This record gives sequence, C-alpha cells and structure tokens, in this order.
Amino acid sequence: MNFLRKLSTSGSFPLCYNLLPHFAAAEQDYNNLINYAKDALQDGRIQTFFLSDRPTCKQEFSSLRLAEDILAADGEPIISLALTFHDRKTVMDRLQKYIRAGVQQFVFVSGDYPLRIEAKNAKPVYDIDSVQLLMLLADLLELTDIAKGCVINPFKHFESEQIWQYEKLRRKISLGADFIVSQIGYDLRKFDELIQFCTLNKITAPLVANVYTADMQTAGMIQARAIPGVKMPGSLLRMLNEKKPEWKPAVRRTVKTLSVLKGLGYQGALLGSATISFSETKKILDEKEGLEEEWQNFVAELDYSDGSAPQFYYFQKDPQNSLNSSEPAPVALKHFPSLTYLFSYFIDWLVYVPQGPLFKMTGRFCHFCSTSRFWYGFLWLLEYVSKRPLYGCNMCGDCTLYACGFLCYQSGCPKKLQNGPCGGSIEGYCEVFPGKKRCYWVKVYHNMKGVRQHVTFTAQPIPARDTSLHRTSSWINFFTGKDHRKMKFEETSGKPT
Ligand code: SF4
Ligand code: SF4
Repeated sequence: MNFLRKLSTSGSFPLCYNLLPHFAAAEQDYNNLINYAKDALQDGRIQTFFLSDRPTCKQEFSSLRLAEDILAADGEPIISLALTFHDRKTVMDRLQKYIRAGVQQFVFVSGDYPLRIEAKNAKPVYDIDSVQLLMLLADLLELTDIAKGCVINPFKHFESEQIWQYEKLRRKISLGADFIVSQIGYDLRKFDELIQFCTLNKITAPLVANVYTADMQTAGMIQARAIPGVKMPGSLLRMLNEKKPEWKPAVRRTVKTLSVLKGLGYQGALLGSATISFSETKKILDEKEGLEEEWQNFVAELDYSDGSAPQFYYFQKDPQNSLNSSEPAPVALKHFPSLTYLFSYFIDWLVYVPQGPLFKMTGRFCHFCSTSRFWYGFLWLLEYVSKRPLYGCNMCGDCTLYACGFLCYQSGCPKKLQNGPCGGSIEGYCEVFPGKKRCYWVKVYHNMKGVRQHVTFTAQPIPARDTSLHRTSSWINFFTGKDHRKMKFEETSGKPT
C-alpha cells in the first residue's frame, strides 16, 4: 500500500524517513543511504523514503538511481522536486523520468536559494513556482495517477508571514495537492494550529508532520542557517546546551513528539535526524510503541514557549493547555496606506478596471501603439521611465503589480515568487538576506493592510510567466490579451469580454 493510501487509513500513522536531507549531506554517501533503506525495510516499520531530487553539489550520485534501488528493494520513494535550478521543461522531463522508473509520489517545493559556493557551479533559475507547477500538472491527464504533495511552514513569527503561508496552502489544495507536509519545527502549538486551520477551512488532505530529532548537531545546523526558515526555540536550545550531546533524551523527545502529533490528528510523520544510521531510528521506533496512549501527558513537557518573544498564532490559546482553542485570534488593525500604494491603486482603477473612466481610451491607444513601431517604442519608454523608479520595474512584460500589493516581484523577491512566499523567511527577513532585507511578501502584506484588515490573495493564481514577453510593454500586452490575464478587448465597443 503506498504512503498516501496509508495516510488515509484511520489510525495507521505511517512514517517516512527523510533519507537525503541536503543540508546534512556532507558525510553521506550512496552506500550508507541505501543501507539505511534496506535495514529499515527489513525491520518493516518504515517503508517510505523522502529523497531530494537534487542532492547538493558535494554528492556524485543521482537521486533517480537511489529511487530505483529503493523500488527494487520493495520500498517507496517520495521525491521532493525543488524548482531552484529547473525551468518548466526540465521539471516535466525529470518528472517523467521518475514516473517511468516507477515513482508515484512527489512533493513540489520552490527550493532553497543556493548558497554562494553552490551558486558558482549553477545559477538558480526559478522559472516557475510550486503553485504554477500544480497548475501545469492539472492540465496533464496522463499525470493524474501521481500523488502531489505540498509543503507549508506553520512556524512563522509574524502575522504577515504566517497568513500568507496558510493562504498559499489553500491555493495549493484548490489546485489539486493531495497531501501536506509541514516544515521542520519544534512548537507544538504551531503544529496544532495547522490542524485547526485545516479543520476550519475544510481541508481534508492528509497532514504529515516533519519531525527532526532535536540534538546538538541539529541545533548547530539550524543556528548556521543551513535549514532555511527553521528556528529552534530558545528554551529548547538552552536545554540542549545544558544536557550536552546525549542522544537518549533527544530520542525520548522525538518519541513523545510523535505521540502528541498523532494524538492531535496528524495522519503520518516525516522523520529525520542529523545522523544516518537505522540503529538510531530503531530506538525511536522501539520506544514509540506503548507511549502513544499517554500523549496528553507530554504536551506540557514539550511546550518550549518562553513568552519573551511573543509571536503570532492564528488561534487563541486554549486556557486548559498550551495548545489552541478553535477561536481565531484577532489580527492587527489595518493602517493608513502608503502614498505610493494609494497612487497605484487609483491609477489601476482608472486604467485597468473595465469600469474605470480611462479603460476604453487607454485600451484603444494601446491597440493603436501595438501597430506602429514608433508608438510602441514611445509607450515602452513611458512605461519604463514611470515604473522603474516607482517599483524597480524590470519590464517583464506581464505585470502582476495589481495582485501583489503594487510591489514588483521581479525586483523584490530573489526567487521571483508570484503566488505567495517560500517558507524560508526568518522573523520577517528574506531567506537570502537574513537580518538585512524584509521578505517581499511581508512587504506585500503590509501594503495590503492599507485597504483591508483581513489580507488574502486578491487575484486568481498567476500561471507560469510567458518568458517571450520579457522586455516588452506590459501595458500593451494587457490590452492586446497577451499577458496572463488574457483579456479580450473589443476595440469597436471598448468592452472587455
Ligand atoms: S511589468 Fe513586470 S517587472 Fe515591471 S513592475 Fe510589473 S511585474 Fe514588475
Ligand atoms: S523575498 Fe520572501 S518569498 Fe522571496 S525568497 Fe525571500 S523569503 Fe522567500
């Protein structure tokens, strides 16, 4: 039975092992990865293995070979397909290769931004994001048999980060994601929050908790920012520092965490640790048996919140325990919009909204300019000189300012994400510029707070960009129906159809 089906079987709580955490790959070689899988399969309690499609540059083997060998040993690989280095065609080719080899389960992620050393060997591409990939796959009937997983980070510090994570999750589910994997985290209340959010929004896709054993080695990796978007609570860190490198308490903590997560309603778990030896995992599996019934006794013990750095939770705290009630927490009040935002909003209404007073006239002028080289060049220049200083416009030819709080994703987000943020931001800062530059989507959130208190996406999901439009006029592309909105402007009547 495959992992997804087991997830949907009541009480089954299947485990998958994160066999190839790319951040811990330095000491791993092919043999100890495949040996881990074989030992686990012999034991029988773990049959599914999570592999990153693209191991780090330090590794010389292919994940396809590892996936084939796991399948040959009667195991199941889940491939985590990161979109960092692949354009849409390469992604499809890779997907087909894995499917031909017999892989049926995938998780799609935008992917971590490469470190500087890695980027020297290969430049990041970020041609499409995980939402756009789901949109492409929805149109491909021959791929309906594959299980499509998505990732969410419920461990965000600020409202402006967390709300987008949930909005993006809703978007992925509406586009056909079959199961949900959480980011690594250590805050039980946040784990619980994700369950409650799914219940509130009638999301029935199975939830898989990402449980990474918290020991000193893991703490070191997190502090060195080797796992973007992951934070270890201060109280847990202090506890690790006091107790020094003992594996036994770490095993106990993992076992108790698994029991609580199952009790809370997660349908399965993705296990991982900084060591790659099945004998260590076996200790977790052995201790796990028999402790599951007692899960409620562990909740207080695993509460690492210290209250010194208050953070946003989607639900109000349950006064009975350290988890959540079903009552959503209040969000920050809306504030006065910035002048740039107000100006942009007004121009957008004036020109781009069909009911706007200048819509017909602008549409006709754009159509006229599209037929004349001189006038096309004139309008192109006008667009460039007006939007470059205001938004850092890169003339991508397919403008999404209207959907992103009038901020340009081309100049604002290193991963060029148009459908919500990645999971990598830390305390509102971008994964690529920690402590220096605010996450683009955090800024979008603040801009949108200027007009509404409850921020949500204001437009439909944005499909993969037509790269042939690069360096063309987005104004003309909009009115001639070439951009992603495919607007039909009937020049004679001036009405959109
Ligand atoms: S046209 Fe493209 S590059 Fe220019 S502001 Fe709009 S989204 Fe940004
Ligand atoms: S700006 Fe935000 S969404 Fe973009 S890469 Fe940075 S953290 Fe991720």
